[in-house]
Amino acid sequence: MTHDQLIADATAARERAYAPYSQFKVGAVLLGKSGRLYTGCNVENAAYGPSMCAERTAIFKAVSEGEREFETIAVVTENGVSPCGTCRQVMIEFAPDMTIVIADTQGNIRLTTVRDLLPDGFTPDQLPQSDR
Ligand code: ZN
Repeated sequence: MTHDQLIADATAARERAYAPYSQFKVGAVLLGKSGRLYTGCNVENAAYGPSMCAERTAIFKAVSEGEREFETIAVVTENGVSPCGTCRQVMIEFAPDMTIVIADTQGNIRLTTVRDLLPDGFTPDQLPQSDR
């Protein structure tokens, strides 16, 4: 699965974004270790608080379907912004070494990792009772 293919899928997911308040559409696609892909888009809400990011939509879809190990997530926005802090925390729970492909709609791409975006992050192994 090339980065270009992932970006194409994330771009398609971005078109399904429900963003009537911010007008800021985000698309994501998550590549599981199984090879399966999980798409996500941001889903806003009139009450704002219940809104959900594209990245977490994709991750929660995957986990709910039984996959917990991930290779890569691609995220597409108009201007190529990085995932928010909440999404970084969710990513480090499952895939601290995951590659993040960040793309804008003009075709600019940069690569990073979860650990690079969330250094010294809080991880499951810091909880003594963790049974992961
Ligand atoms: Zn987010």
